[in-house]
Amino acid sequence: MAKTAICFKANQAYLASYSLKTTFMKTMTCSQLGGACDEEFHAKTIEEMTELSKKHATEMIEKGDEAHIKARKEMQELMHFSEGMNAWFENKRKTFDCLAHDNK
Ligand SMILES: [Zn+2]
Repeated sequence: MAKTAICFKANQAYLASYSLKTTFMKTMTCSQLGGACDEEFHAKTIEEMTELSKKHATEMIEKGDEAHIKARKEMQELMHFSEGMNAWFENKRKTFDCLAHDNK
């Protein structure tokens, strides 16, 4: 919890100094998003990010990738409970918020 608070503060300062630049992208990997590989996704919001990861996971599952099939099953178990899903999303959102923007 303390870690998150520190990160949040740092992020606020970061946002303040870059408030005029709102088009930065952030990077997260498939495994950071509950997937199974190091594929990188670039997006401006966590919503976009999870969409990209879902699309990628679906493609991998269609190819019959075992690791992604397993990861998807675990996600589906989580989705049976809206609280579990919300907690998952909240967790990913925090991770996303704490990331530095891509330096591009
Ligand atoms: Zn993947």
